[in-house]
Amino acid sequence: MYRDHMDIAYDKDILIKPTSRVPMIGREYGYYTGPGNPLFSLGGGLVRSILYYILTKYHVRRGYYVVETPIIARTTLYELTGHLSFYRENMFLLDIEGDQYALKPMNCPYHVLIFMNLLEKYSHKIKLPFKVFELGKVHRYEISGALKGLMRVRGFTQDDAHLFAREEQIADLFLSVFNDLKDLYEKLFHMSITAESVKLRISLSDKSKIGEEYMGSPEEWSVAEEKLVKMAEEIHRRYGIEYFAAEGEAAFYGPKLDVIALLPDPETGGKKEWQIGTIQFDFNLPRKFKLNKLLEKTHGVSDIYMIHRALLGSIERFLGVYLEAYQGRLPYVLSPVQAVVIGIKSGGDRDTEVVNYAEQVASKLQEMDVRAVASSIDRPHLSGYVRKIRSTLHPSILIYIGERELESGKISAALYDFSRRNYKKITLESMDDLEALIDEAEKDIRELIGNPPKYYVDVSYMV
Ligand SMILES: [Zn+2]
Repeated sequence: MYRDHMDIAYDKDILIKPTSRVPMIGREYGYYTGPGNPLFSLGGGLVRSILYYILTKYHVRRGYYVVETPIIARTTLYELTGHLSFYRENMFLLDIEGDQYALKPMNCPYHVLIFMNLLEKYSHKIKLPFKVFELGKVHRYEISGALKGLMRVRGFTQDDAHLFAREEQIADLFLSVFNDLKDLYEKLFHMSITAESVKLRISLSDKSKIGEEYMGSPEEWSVAEEKLVKMAEEIHRRYGIEYFAAEGEAAFYGPKLDVIALLPDPETGGKKEWQIGTIQFDFNLPRKFKLNKLLEKTHGVSDIYMIHRALLGSIERFLGVYLEAYQGRLPYVLSPVQAVVIGIKSGGDRDTEVVNYAEQVASKLQEMDVRAVASSIDRPHLSGYVRKIRSTLHPSILIYIGERELESGKISAALYDFSRRNYKKITLESMDDLEALIDEAEKDIRELIGNPPKYYVDVSYMV
């Protein structure tokens, strides 16, 4: 049965539905939060904080520096970048003590300021390419009629990064960013990035609107767009992934390569296209900030380019897309409930022992920082109960404890296999084998970032 991502997120205590009502007060939550401003609950806090940890470690291991920049800025900053003339209608503007401020719509200008200060302070000791990463919260105005659940919101967090490099470094850098994207999707989210599952959209300018909607000269746009097409060709050569051009879809500062994924559409049983990551090429911002002049002083080079990229895009939207496409099935490491240990009662004398044993197994998992929960059910209701747990909580691990397990000391488990999209049965010889089971569940994420985050919290309230 198809479920909307908001219903799924609600079941997993990821968020509060804006249309439900605040108890006692009676008004809807959305009345207080305003539209397009999702309020996350405990499951959402968990998923997001673990994801932030993974993304941070992942980027640091790839040579990015991490920053955190203010949520508001004086509009003078966006005057300097050109946002105020090219992006004004998407910005939330505030008046404070007669001065104009904006809620940050993009992180880039702050990243450039940080880079410039480093260059002045440490000169050539700052190496090129320079890569800076931020889980940056941005706010962009969208008309209320366009807002939709987590898919389209007014405030969201980007897994945003900016790379500064010389012209000769750009091609390699661009391809390494694409490889990073592939690695992240495949090892964290179990989504394959192949010719069958993705295509690339090269978002180009509309030549008739250069100077009006796009910053820079027609010649500069042509050079940048040609470079981008070459990169798409190289990705096609390496992975067979197709690309197509879309005129008039570029950012105001440069052309971009958007990754479009073909994901399951449970509503129709077919497939649906979603934009996931984006890699953008910018020849405007470095010049606006006189970065080329500064780098000439510090590094003796002036051919500086900037890449803007987000692998997931907006965390909120990606979560919405992922929950909907896979109907709530999150990767093991992100799932609020990772394991459920079910004691199966048969109405006999040993029921208490069965329940205790299930609790012992859950405690052992909790000691290993696994978000495990013990629960018990009468045997006649077992299959319905398991079906419900599988379809609402989606634990990667299910463990069954009955009289047979009590006698043999063995444990019957089921581990979700993301490549087959089904559970596979595993028999553990004893409790000692639980560690090997967890290792297997963590195999892919270990390949990505080394030791995965271990966050135990009591999630028994959900079962
Ligand atoms: Zn940017």
